[in-house]
Amino acid sequence: MTTSEFHSFRHGSFDITVLSDGPIVLNGELFAPEANDTERAEIVARLNGKDNTAHAQSNIPLIVSDKEVILVDVGAGSRFQATEGRLEENLGKVGVDADDVTIVLISHAHPDHIWGLLKDDGTLRFRNAKYFLGRTEWNYWMGDEASALPAEVQPFVEGARRDLSAIGDRVKLIEDGDEITEGMRVLATPGHTPGHLSVVLDSDVPLIITIDAVSSEIVSFEHPDWSFGFDMDPARAKITRKALLEQAVAENAKLLGFHWTYPGVGRIKRAGEAYEFVNAVGERP
Ligand SMILES: [Zn+2]
Repeated sequence: MTTSEFHSFRHGSFDITVLSDGPIVLNGELFAPEANDTERAEIVARLNGKDNTAHAQSNIPLIVSDKEVILVDVGAGSRFQATEGRLEENLGKVGVDADDVTIVLISHAHPDHIWGLLKDDGTLRFRNAKYFLGRTEWNYWMGDEASALPAEVQPFVEGARRDLSAIGDRVKLIEDGDEITEGMRVLATPGHTPGHLSVVLDSDVPLIITIDAVSSEIVSFEHPDWSFGFDMDPARAKITRKALLEQAVAENAKLLGFHWTYPGVGRIKRAGEAYEFVNAVGERP
């Protein structure tokens, strides 16, 4: 395997490589709860899926500046789906050891984004890193509201509490607009989870790492009113998604999506009332 296995590009003062934690298998209802059967079948087919299931990718940006080695989210480790947990192995393929990571920015506390924080032996996978997480997200998962969620969601709550507790003495809780390092700041994008954060990297145009505020390069662009199956507050998520997509159009931003077809790097074009995703792989830097 060579480093060319992964898509890399320069953005401002950052070298970005889109790693993968491995795909997640989801059914069509999770990709597009509001779609009818025909629409859902078409979406699954465009994702190269079949039998009403398709892969959602786990595109994890490795962001390197002259000062920092940064990961945005850490994947699921071995605790969620068997196809996931490949992040550390894939970091190794680009010559980065887990101990080299200086900053871990957590977008939100869902399994596919944080359950990789701990190795199977219960110790921190990125033991030298500083951690950043939204204060709202921390308070939500640690508080009474999460305790009151339905039984089927309680494994998410238990997992979030396990992993957030493990970084409790080294996490910095942050707010909308806070800077992580020079040229990199977070944007509050609530709805998918209450304290969900997206990430903005400066250059001549911004790069917006949308994470799960824009969950699919097909569904979220072409049907911005439609939710994603894991949106915890679909109405709020819709308002956030539309505002973020409008911001991307206005700023001619480059975009990177966590669950989009690998590597999930592209631009946005207005298409009537909706939007079109334009793949930027191969675009000259
Ligand atoms: Zn996710």
